[in-house]
Amino acid sequence: MKEPIKEHRARKRFGQNFLVCRGTIARIVDAIAPRREDRVVEIGPGLGALTEPLLERLDHLHVIEIDRDLIARLHDRFPPERLTIHEGDALDFDFAAIGGDLRVVGNLPYNISTPLLFHLAGFAASVRDMHFMLQREVVDRMVADPGTADFGRLSVMLQYRFDMERLFVVPPGAFNPAPKVDSAIVRLIPRPAVALDARDEALLAKLVLAAFGQRRKMLRNNLREFVDEAGLAAAGIAPTARAEELGVADYVRLANALATS
Ligand code: SAM
Repeated sequence: MKEPIKEHRARKRFGQNFLVCRGTIARIVDAIAPRREDRVVEIGPGLGALTEPLLERLDHLHVIEIDRDLIARLHDRFPPERLTIHEGDALDFDFAAIGGDLRVVGNLPYNISTPLLFHLAGFAASVRDMHFMLQREVVDRMVADPGTADFGRLSVMLQYRFDMERLFVVPPGAFNPAPKVDSAIVRLIPRPAVALDARDEALLAKLVLAAFGQRRKMLRNNLREFVDEAGLAAAGIAPTARAEELGVADYVRLANALATS
């Protein structure tokens, strides 16, 4: 006789909050609007809340999951010709290896959301679009405008690569166990490569990190190790400005001015 399927106990260390609200699940899948032949990869399929409805609309789906118990369940439930299961850590995963024109989706583990977003930003050239569930507060930071309290390193580095839109907010009751905070669905679409072109992207990343290091300080202090006041002024940036007052284009212009000097 086959063993009855044991109930899965959600693991906090893997950020497991499973979607249980059918209406929310349907709304997410509609927002993704999968077409049969799309190349889709889901991060953290868990108990399959999104995996199953996605597979109803797709010929094939890739998933990346770290929890071995959940991987075993997925193997039992879905045939390998429909679902390719990549066992391991999405933070190390080479998304480009799956192919180009990728659609990346997932109700992401919130405990690693920021490093995961930075990791994914590196694959923008292989991506068509991404749809994620994240903490609402993180989504608000991603899409924030310069000059607002939410505008920070995450906003600059992601807005450099993607056009982003917050689609809708999801309350804690849509999950089991319920998280303590509201969540939101965000769509990311890579910007054309020519839109904003930092000649040295590593330098851009370092500058932005330093600029927001102490966000109340003026840029002439936070950026002292990269550029003096005259250099800031020459790049069209007020040395007395604070990090949150600059837009993405300002950071790119400054990085390019320093890359050539
Ligand atoms: N998609 C499911 C849902 O919506 O109900 C589960 C979402 S749950 C918030 C996050 C999922 O990501 C879990 O299945 C968890 O095991 C998985 N996960 C956590 N850390 C991961 C990592 N580093 N790499 C891949 N998957 C991870």
